[in-house]
Amino acid sequence: MIRLLHRSIPLVALLIFLWGVAGPHPVLAQDGNQSSPVGGTTIHVVQRDETLFRIAMRYGTTVEAIAAANGISDPRYISVGQRLLIPNARLDVPGAPITHSVAPGDTLRTLAAAYQTTADRIATANFITNPARLFIGQELTINQGAAGDTDTVAPPRSLYRVQPSANVLRIALRLGVPWRALAEANGLASSGPVFAGLQLWVPGGEGSPHDLPSPLVSFTITPTPAVQGKTIALHITTERPAVLAGTFIGYPVQFVTHDGNQHEALFGVHAFTEGGVYPLALSVTAPDGAQTHLTFSVRVDEGGYGTEMISLDTQQQDLLTAQVTEPEWDLVARTMSAFTAQRYFDGLMGLPSTGAITSQFGTRRAYNGGVLSTFHSGTDFGGAPGSPVLAPAAGVVVLAEALPVRGNATIIDHGWGVLTGYWHQSEISVRVGDVVSAGQVIGAVGSTGRSTGPHLHWEMWVGGVQVDPMQWVQQTFP
Ligand SMILES: [Zn+2]
Repeated sequence: MIRLLHRSIPLVALLIFLWGVAGPHPVLAQDGNQSSPVGGTTIHVVQRDETLFRIAMRYGTTVEAIAAANGISDPRYISVGQRLLIPNARLDVPGAPITHSVAPGDTLRTLAAAYQTTADRIATANFITNPARLFIGQELTINQGAAGDTDTVAPPRSLYRVQPSANVLRIALRLGVPWRALAEANGLASSGPVFAGLQLWVPGGEGSPHDLPSPLVSFTITPTPAVQGKTIALHITTERPAVLAGTFIGYPVQFVTHDGNQHEALFGVHAFTEGGVYPLALSVTAPDGAQTHLTFSVRVDEGGYGTEMISLDTQQQDLLTAQVTEPEWDLVARTMSAFTAQRYFDGLMGLPSTGAITSQFGTRRAYNGGVLSTFHSGTDFGGAPGSPVLAPAAGVVVLAEALPVRGNATIIDHGWGVLTGYWHQSEISVRVGDVVSAGQVIGAVGSTGRSTGPHLHWEMWVGGVQVDPMQWVQQTFP
C-alpha cells in the first residue's frame, strides 16, 4: 500500500505539469456533476454496454470525431477497457441526453438509479408503456440528473465521477471498496492517476446496477445490439456451480464453464436474419439437477451489406450443379460446425493474407443475372498466385484437401466452436492433425475450384453459423 502511494505521487505531479504546458484549457471537472466546457484532452475508458454513439453524446462530440482521433475503422466495435481520446470533450453538457443501450438486467429502476433520474421520466421520454418489455440492445434516451426536487431518486451508487488529482487508491479509500476491485472493474492500472471527469463503475456498491433473475449474478453480452452476420459473446456468472445451455434463432448456444460458476459462449447471428427482437433461451442446471429456464429479448440489427453480380463462364457453371455443390457443402458445414472445448485462439486475430481486400463478407450475390439468393460467406483477399496464406490464430487443422468448388481447401479449428476456412489455394502446406500457431504459413494463394482469378477466400463459422471474420481482427473475444 505504502509503496503504491509512493509511486503514484510523481505520476500525478507529472500529469498536472503536462496539463499546465499543454494549453490554456486543462480538463478539470468541478465537484459533483458541475463542470465546464473545455478544449483539452480527455481520455475515456470504455465501460460495459457502451456504444461510441453514447460516448459521443456524453462528451458533446461526434462518433466521427472520436473514430478519427483513435483510428477506429468500424465505430460499432469498441472493447471494454479500451482507452479513447475524446477530442474537444465537453464534460457534462447541461441537460444533454445520453443514449443508453439496454444490457441484461437493466430495468427502469436500475437505470433511474444509475443516471440520477426517475423511472417515469425514462418511460415518458422513450414512449414505454410496458416497462417489463425492455430488450437487450434497445437504445433509450435518458436525461442524466433530470430528477426534479420533488422526485425520489435512488442514490447513484454504481457510478462515480473522478475528481481532479485523484488516483485509484484514494478513490477506493473514499468509497470504501477494495482498490484492486475498483481498478479491475474499470480497466485501470492500480497505482496510476485517473483523469478528472471519468465515470467509474463502483463494484460492490449499494444495490446491484443490474437486476438479474436468480441464479445469475452477472451477464454481459457483446457487442450490443447484435448484428446479422456477426459474432456475439456471452459471459455469465452464476451464484453456484451450474451447467448452462441455450438457443438463439434456431441454433444451439454452447457454453464453456470454468471455476464452476463462470460461463462463456460464442455464437453467430446468421447473415440473413431479419432485423428485430429475438428470444435468447437459457437453461441453468444446478448440480442436484434442478433446472431454471430464462428468456432474454435481444435486438438484432441488419448489417447494411451491399450487393454484387458475378459472371461465370460455361465451364465454371457446370460446377454450380447441385450434384457437385451439395455433397461439398455438407462436408464443409459438418466440419465447420464442430465444437472443441479447448480454446486455441487468444487476443486479436491476424490477417491471413497481406493482399488487398477485394470483397467483404455479407455482400448479397447473384450469379449470371439471377436473384440475390446468396451472400458472400467470407472475406476475399487479392494477391499474386503463390503469396503466403497465414493462420490468423492458433488451432488444429481439421481439413486439408482439394474440393470441386472451393479448390484447395484448409479448415482450422480454433476451439470453442470457432473455425476458419481457406479456399482456392494453389497449394496446401499443412496436414489434418497439425497444430498451427498464429502467423504460421499454411498454404499459398491460388485460383483453384470455382474462382474468377487468384484470390484467397477467408471464411469463419462460429457455433455452426457463417460470420464476418474481420470482426475478429478488430475485436477481442471472449
Ligand atoms: Zn470469397
